[in-house]
Amino acid sequence: MNKKSKGRLAVDWKRKGRQYASLNFPWSRNESAWGSLQIPIIVIANGEGPFVLLVGGNHGDEYEGPLALSNLARELEVERVSGTICIVPALNYPALKAGTRLSPIDGLNMNRAFLGRAEGSITEQIAHFVEVELIGRADAVLDIHAGGRTMMFQPFAVSHQLPDVVQTSRAREALIAFGAPIGLILEELDNEGMLDTAVEREGKLFLSTELGGGGSTTAATIKLAYDGAHNFLVHTGVYRAAVKAPPVPVAIMKNESDGYVSASTSGFIEFTRELGEVIEAGELIARIHDFDNLHNEPLPVTAPVTGTLLGRHFGGYAYKGDFLAMFASPED
Ligand SMILES: [Zn+2]
Repeated sequence: MNKKSKGRLAVDWKRKGRQYASLNFPWSRNESAWGSLQIPIIVIANGEGPFVLLVGGNHGDEYEGPLALSNLARELEVERVSGTICIVPALNYPALKAGTRLSPIDGLNMNRAFLGRAEGSITEQIAHFVEVELIGRADAVLDIHAGGRTMMFQPFAVSHQLPDVVQTSRAREALIAFGAPIGLILEELDNEGMLDTAVEREGKLFLSTELGGGGSTTAATIKLAYDGAHNFLVHTGVYRAAVKAPPVPVAIMKNESDGYVSASTSGFIEFTRELGEVIEAGELIARIHDFDNLHNEPLPVTAPVTGTLLGRHFGGYAYKGDFLAMFASPED
């Protein structure tokens, strides 16, 4: 943490108005000896007030955040801002261009690289800069995720159950304000190294999402990301505007570790139920086919708990151990 970052960001944090900048890191490679990696950053500042950080493209195969946040970056009106809005629409920019979850440069998962390392590989350098220079300044952070190429979700916003009661209830208020049809109080499978954890550890407000998936977007999921990010800015007090009302009331749900299903064998997946359906524990949700042994009946996969099917594997084939499904239930 004491090492100086190699990242360079030419932004005047005090200057009123909109600045299109880039966060630059040295990137020497066969194709460009003295080249640099340039990650776009937009800063909209207007006097005193909270510092709110909006992030998209943390994973490179999730496009709602990058598209919605770049639209928002151009459309927000400076005069309505009180404080600073910092937008990073394409955090893992090389991965976003490659359409991959992980960085094509060093193979790392940005969302497992926090706190990062100033002297590390390029993903670790980006994480370190964001941690020190952006999260360090921020009062509130929104990180927009989606299912990517291998998952599909019934769209939801995410907050976490945290040790601090006040911090948990602040996150829950933001979860409702975001306005996604479902607000999930999520139990993460593996939260070490996440941007979420980096923000929450400092006692700051953090909100995330899982919208759509399949490595692409829909008009509805982009609108959800755009309206939700707008509402998050209004909720934190950094932007004065009318809230964009959600089409349906926000349903608060929770999940637990027993609501996840992974593939117990490799094969072709036939889902028998749809996302968003309420399913009883023990009911069939999918069958796994082994085309090399067609005489065998496909392996049945059943719901481990009673709940709403919020997430599923995307793609025709799954390997043993792959994520298959996720269930959540209404909060008590
Ligand atoms: Zn993601």
